[in-house]
Amino acid sequence: MNKEFLYTLLDSMSVSGHEIPLQKKVIAEMTPHCDKILTDYTGNVVCVLNPDAPFKVLLAAHIDEIGLIVTHIQPDGLLRVAKSGGIFPGTYPGHQVAVHGCAGTVYGAVVRSKDMDKADLKVDELYIDIGAKDAADARKYVQEGDPAHLNTYHQEMLNGFLSARGVDDRGCAFIILEALKRAKELGCKIGVYAATTVGEETTGRGSYWVGSNIRPDVAVITDVTYASDYPGMDPKASGEVKLGSGGAICNCSIANQKLNDLLKAVAKENGIPYQMESYTGRTYTDADNLHVTGTGVVTALLSLPLRYMHCPSEVCHMDDIENSIELLARFLCRIDENTDLDPFH
Ligand SMILES: [Zn+2]
Repeated sequence: MNKEFLYTLLDSMSVSGHEIPLQKKVIAEMTPHCDKILTDYTGNVVCVLNPDAPFKVLLAAHIDEIGLIVTHIQPDGLLRVAKSGGIFPGTYPGHQVAVHGCAGTVYGAVVRSKDMDKADLKVDELYIDIGAKDAADARKYVQEGDPAHLNTYHQEMLNGFLSARGVDDRGCAFIILEALKRAKELGCKIGVYAATTVGEETTGRGSYWVGSNIRPDVAVITDVTYASDYPGMDPKASGEVKLGSGGAICNCSIANQKLNDLLKAVAKENGIPYQMESYTGRTYTDADNLHVTGTGVVTALLSLPLRYMHCPSEVCHMDDIENSIELLARFLCRIDENTDLDPFH
């Protein structure tokens, strides 16, 4: 596995709305491996294999991570912030943050006092101390709108487990980009469009732009999902999903059942482990938007099992990443314009 690229994705800043620096790293990594790279004015990157092929499969994973945006600089130099995506404010007090300002990255600590010791702490109760003497001093480095994130980075754990900030969804961005490389190696002939989308955690705009511009025949979205293998999780909610047991194919109303069946068949034929999960209604992933672009897109959702979603240290398993790459690559070599995905047949 190309761990170096995985860790670059996981350790870089890509707070929702501020994805371009990481997208440039995606372009640099992928340029030698694909035939064409498309970008658009909202910030998406689409790596293309076989651009002249008439049958197009889109793989999509969002490149943005949750974090904070500076909203106000107080006269005393403390920063006030708003959420960029679904953070848990209670996980911030007492922790280091990195603020990406006009003069580069500055580091801060999130103020912690006794009255912040409550489960329902709100983001507008957070203060960031960057060591500034006053507002004028702070403004040399930071301005309103600058992004910030917890200053946590990847760590390998025991037995193939991996902890990092924003595995959601940079871990899946790695999966789709490596799947394109692997599909090429396997001689894939169809058009493969691997899109790292922007803004999923806040507006969902990236997936709409990508779906509308590419007009794929089929889309497979990859995002993280709640594992059920840690305290407080209930397998009754959406199924038993364990880390290390493979990617989870999602049974949901927007998934094309024949596409799901094909993914399962490809997994079985190649001895790749997989799991099933079930959701009703919205999936709260890019799949919701992509599915309804153009005249509608035949969609499946492949999920990476995750513990502690939207927390400073999300945990996934290396085997699930590797198995999902192989599953998608083999799937891309198996599907083409002759594949019957009509649910009425
Ligand atoms: Zn996500």
